[in-house]
Amino acid sequence: MSLGADDTLKIRSFVDGEFIDPATGQWLDNYDPAVGEVYSQVANSPASDVDRAVAAATRASRDWSRLSVEQRANHLLRIAEGIRSRADELARAECRDSGKPLKLARDLEIPRAAQNFGFFAGLIHGMSTAAHDSPVGLNVTLAQPFGVGGTISPWNLPLYLFTWKVAPALAAGNCVVAKPSELTPLTAAMLGEICIEVGLPHGVLNIVQGSGQVTGQALVEHPGIRAISFTGGTATGAKIAASAAPRFKKLSLELGGKNPNLIFADCDFDKMLATTFRSSFQNQGQICLCGSRILVESSIYDRFMAAFLMMVHKAKVGDPLDEANDLGAVVSQAHQQKILSAIDTAAAEGGRILAGGHAVSVPGRCERGWFVAPTVIDNLDQSCCTNQREIFGPVVTVQPFRDADHAIELANAVPYGLSATVWTANLNRALRVAENIEAGVVWVNGWLIRDLRTPFGGVKESGVGREGGIDALEFWTQKKNVCFCR
Ligand code: NAD
Repeated sequence: MSLGADDTLKIRSFVDGEFIDPATGQWLDNYDPAVGEVYSQVANSPASDVDRAVAAATRASRDWSRLSVEQRANHLLRIAEGIRSRADELARAECRDSGKPLKLARDLEIPRAAQNFGFFAGLIHGMSTAAHDSPVGLNVTLAQPFGVGGTISPWNLPLYLFTWKVAPALAAGNCVVAKPSELTPLTAAMLGEICIEVGLPHGVLNIVQGSGQVTGQALVEHPGIRAISFTGGTATGAKIAASAAPRFKKLSLELGGKNPNLIFADCDFDKMLATTFRSSFQNQGQICLCGSRILVESSIYDRFMAAFLMMVHKAKVGDPLDEANDLGAVVSQAHQQKILSAIDTAAAEGGRILAGGHAVSVPGRCERGWFVAPTVIDNLDQSCCTNQREIFGPVVTVQPFRDADHAIELANAVPYGLSATVWTANLNRALRVAENIEAGVVWVNGWLIRDLRTPFGGVKESGVGREGGIDALEFWTQKKNVCFCR
């Protein structure tokens, strides 16, 4: 990264250990959403830059895959340390690029980015090789890396999700060509600087910046990449799957959600209320795991609504640098418009807007930023558009349910199946509900508790495959059976 001739910050692709200009000279404007202004430009890297990155990764992969587990782990640990040593700077960059509260980036996301590398550095020590013996042969099953892996990640948790994909791919012995979102490219570029600082061999990690249509598509179509891990929207996932299928690429798809939050009358009300506020509005509702459909047992519906609305009305929306604020800006003007138009649709469908429902003007530095008030809507049927489609903003709907069967029916009546939250003191019921909910992740009496050893992913239109723990290492390797015949 450096300043261009016009003094604008230029965010370049990182290829073979150096930052390069896009071969076509094309740059995209990059905005600070909290102030609503362009503050940098990001390379829109064409297919030829992706070719360069894949060639560099292919060259590097020979040596990288032959390193001992300790050597590879040490490189990952050095990257983790490099992230920690620049944590404050990275958190500020993430906040500026995405509009998210600084405290969220600083306390959760950047530490987790470092932890992703540290975790997989540890996990590879436990990778084992299976052997099956018989009178006619001894079979040894090797788990071999692909050579070069591709990763594509979204803007909502930029460095957190970028590293969540890159770390296991590298740990398993692959070199990587990684594409961050063009809306939040900055911290990935800073990770490129960290790779230089910590002496990662050239070509092991390459970061191609650019739009999905240009750079992302070139990455998906590239014949040198045999496995791709993608996190993003369901529609984009479908396009990627359609491009990858005839090329027989291995795919992991982590997609959208419309997650239910099931609240039973016997729950710990105070804990549920505080957590439900977070699971509704953390990062302005722009976390794939946010519970955007709140389902409440009828007997406590009024009590819940009164207490929840009081919290929501008190929530502070404003400058993401100000620690007193609960919500920052949403990621872009286009996304703000999309959220506001989804709220209009909800009103047209008969929804009652009980809180929010509008953009927020923030005086001072952020007066031109893109903010949306936390919004609560009820009086909507499960089948309406609002309750079926992902909004990915600070908008939740609330619906009453009669009993556990009704709650499960409502919870499952969407095309998605990423996560769910169940609030009840009755653990038998919690288990039955959890077993019957169509989701890849279910929390009972909590939310966003993540243990990196556990499998993570969705069902139905929320995705295919599992990331996390050993599942991630398995994704990034292919098995080869070698039979020593007796
Ligand atoms: P998006 O699908 O628009 O973009 C994601 C990434 O894909 C970006 O890097 C983008 O440039 C790239 N891309 C776009 N079109 C492409 C194409 N044709 N070929 C290759 N790459 C392409 O998603 P987004 O708006 O950045 O992120 C929000 C979405 O991500 C939401 O739907 C959210 O639920 C989902 N998400 C899911 C998870 C999960 O773990 N399941 C986590 C975070 C976000």
